[in-house]
Amino acid sequence: MYRFIPVCEPLLSGNELRYVTEAVSTGWISSSGKYVTKFEQAFADYCGVKYAVAVCNGTVALHLLLTAAGLGKGDEVIVPSFTMIASAFAVCYTGALPVLVDADKDTWNIDTAKIEEKITPKTKAIMPVHIFGNPCRMAEIQRIAREHNLLVLDDAAEAHGAEYAGVKAGKLADLTAFSFFANKNLTTGEGGMVVTDSPEYYDKLRYYRNVCFPLDAPRVYQHEDIGFNYRMSNLHAALGLAQVEKADYYRGLRIKNAALYQKYLTDIEGIRLQRDEPQGLNVHWMNAVLIEPRVFGRTKEQVIEYLQQNGIETRLLFTGMHQQNSLKKYGCDCTGEYPVCDKLTENGFYLPSGSNLTEDEIEFVCAKIREARG
Ligand SMILES: *Cc1c(COP(=O)(O)O)cnc(C)c1O
Repeated sequence: MYRFIPVCEPLLSGNELRYVTEAVSTGWISSSGKYVTKFEQAFADYCGVKYAVAVCNGTVALHLLLTAAGLGKGDEVIVPSFTMIASAFAVCYTGALPVLVDADKDTWNIDTAKIEEKITPKTKAIMPVHIFGNPCRMAEIQRIAREHNLLVLDDAAEAHGAEYAGVKAGKLADLTAFSFFANKNLTTGEGGMVVTDSPEYYDKLRYYRNVCFPLDAPRVYQHEDIGFNYRMSNLHAALGLAQVEKADYYRGLRIKNAALYQKYLTDIEGIRLQRDEPQGLNVHWMNAVLIEPRVFGRTKEQVIEYLQQNGIETRLLFTGMHQQNSLKKYGCDCTGEYPVCDKLTENGFYLPSGSNLTEDEIEFVCAKIREARG
């Protein structure tokens, strides 16, 4: 008999406890502690970029990134419809408007062939999201951005260590945001980071993160702009530093999981997995399957229920941004067709994907999917 197999559990297998204990025992628990700068430096090095700014979650990392980029009311940002809600919400926080593009039917990332038709004189930026760790077609996105004079603002919340054409996420855009939520490939429980190679953006990120205290001037309590408290605590950064020390190890575990799912599911008709972007290194944050009910002979709901009876947890995939009432109320144009996104929402779900899954567990999950067909 197997244990209950959760959809995701954090793996904290290095110096996490030691560093957190050190932070607690020395009393350095706020954002002033040494682990914040250590974590930022280590993560910047890992991505191969000059600057990293730690914040308290991935959603505010996106807001901070858009703020530093100068986005605001009257601007439009191209966002995939198939993404986590924070990608679109962060655009709304600035007053700008998310403009939606459907997903590619194989990679499930933004369909680059459909970006240009959504560009207007108000478009200021493209926000690629590397869905489930699969890097977007960045050469094509960069070409479009150059031709239309747009920024590329990357939501790499799911893509720590992912690569496109040999270049790591973090170095693929003007500014890049990451999340360290508990289920992400690297985690601090709650946390986020923005990285960039630009010293100007670096200053803006630190300025807005800390309620717009002047960066270098002596601290007088006069604030020229409206800023935010998005600082990360030393306790979270202690976890983060320990995680980055083993980033390649953690990345390897997720890639190994995906290869096993591939191995055990590939010959089942009516079951599809995400296809890797040809020039990309997919870090497989999550393994999702797309059921084709007519071919497989069972609906998604029936498969999920059968897995649940066998102690296997699953999760539904994102509901498309074009279906979100909040975004409709905000004024986002949700008309038009998003057939790929709709199919993923309707027929897709996540399989257990945590870094600590064993091959036996993955084989068991796959055997139960096979059995679900009856
Ligand atoms: C997880 C995630 C976020 C938000 O991160 P939080 O740390 O949960 O706020 C943003 N975008 C995408 C694509 C994500 O998967």
